[in-house]
Amino acid sequence: MSDKPAHECGVVGVYAPGRDVARLAFFSLFALQHRGQEAAGIAVSDGTDVVMHKAQGLVSQVFDEAILSRLIGYAAVGHTRYSTTGGASAVNTQPIGCTSLVGDIAVAHNGNLINTVRLRNELEAEGYQFSGTNDSEAIARLYAHHADLGPVEAARATMKRITGAYSVIVLTSRDIVAFRDPLGLRPLIVGEIEGGGYVIASESCAFAPVQAKIIREVGPGEVVVINEKGIRFEQGVESPRRAMCLFEFIYFARPDSVIMDELIYSTRLRMGEQLAVEYAVDADAVVPVPDSGFPAAIGYSRKSGIPLVEGLIKSRYIHRTFIQPDPEMRKLGVRLKLSPLKEQIAGKRLVLVDDSIVRSTTMGQIVRLLKDSGAKEVHVRITSPPIISPCYYGIDMPTKEELAAATRTVDEIQIQIGADSLGYLSLPSTTRAVGPETGQFCTACFTGDYPLPVAEAMAKHALEPEHRVGDMDAVASGQLKLIN
Ligand code: SF4
Repeated sequence: MSDKPAHECGVVGVYAPGRDVARLAFFSLFALQHRGQEAAGIAVSDGTDVVMHKAQGLVSQVFDEAILSRLIGYAAVGHTRYSTTGGASAVNTQPIGCTSLVGDIAVAHNGNLINTVRLRNELEAEGYQFSGTNDSEAIARLYAHHADLGPVEAARATMKRITGAYSVIVLTSRDIVAFRDPLGLRPLIVGEIEGGGYVIASESCAFAPVQAKIIREVGPGEVVVINEKGIRFEQGVESPRRAMCLFEFIYFARPDSVIMDELIYSTRLRMGEQLAVEYAVDADAVVPVPDSGFPAAIGYSRKSGIPLVEGLIKSRYIHRTFIQPDPEMRKLGVRLKLSPLKEQIAGKRLVLVDDSIVRSTTMGQIVRLLKDSGAKEVHVRITSPPIISPCYYGIDMPTKEELAAATRTVDEIQIQIGADSLGYLSLPSTTRAVGPETGQFCTACFTGDYPLPVAEAMAKHALEPEHRVGDMDAVASGQLKLIN
């Protein structure tokens, strides 16, 4: 039913001696639930042992009071997962525990390596042994192998062997160590907890529940070490340039997160304003597709002077991974999730604002729903450029053939979804709305211009389609079921 790309994972690390670190990690993971709903886990260290609990399910389903009270330590690492690599099985849940020369460690990874096949073959030839099938285990085993070099050198040795998107947090008996890929594809940010301690997370929305404030982002290629000596940042490997995922600003990140010093909510407001400039239309009301279309719809409304109305009400109890395998039920999907407010819609010319169109089936259903409810016209406005290429850096997308804009023109998509007009925000306006200078983003899914070569990742996807766990594939393979 969902026609959105999906996050891969959310990660969090907490260093706070004297505090209930498992509970702090749990609260932060809860705030990162949007980055993965398949599995969750927390590992804690008391300086001697690493203790871990992880299972499939939402954060609130995986942990309860009894489990949290058994996770005692001064530092913790947590993970919430949506699998793109390695399938949805329990063995691929994180954090990943490993034995090293300096004791047990636990590793959480957000992203996707693009040299996994070659790397695993090399590591197996060198004597490494793997128990799961995901790329994150290769990172964990590499770090464990080099752990006796000390945190910075172990991270550096690991980073030199891996290629792709990674924001990694490692828990050892003494330290929290975090490192980010040289392009900074996936976000990673550090905060200071009020009353003592530090937190590192995929997004700063994880800070509010633990009363932490932002210190700064982990830079591309950078390593952060937190231990009894305090916090230090060191460049792990050289960063040729930054290529932060532009889609984090458009859709993935939570609106209350700050990335590259920009509040996500504000960037989406500006995208909506730009959209009103690029694709103005005579209309009676601006209607957001809930929830993700709201900030941009507010921006469009403000700029155009067209009033904002809530024309669609979203059911709160349909989970993002809700999937109906039957084609008839699939057609019903949008009507199960969204209810039209006919009083707000009937007889009106509407501007319908959303952040992206992937396959276009869902958007077609929403336009139909509004027209069936009496809308006179529906003008669709999208706050991203057309998606023409899949992502190989940790975002789950359908194949190129399934992407609406890969094989069709905007006019053809407009006809297919039954809209009276269709406008996508241009790439320059999208990046301008984010704020920082252009050239700092990965825009590969909009341009096909990949900042890292993806030939090996493409071959792997072609050979092992089960590695893509998109809605369609998941249903076909029986991997995903109705959750909740
Ligand atoms: S290809 Fe698209 S979704 Fe993937 S990292 Fe680049 S901008 Fe983000």
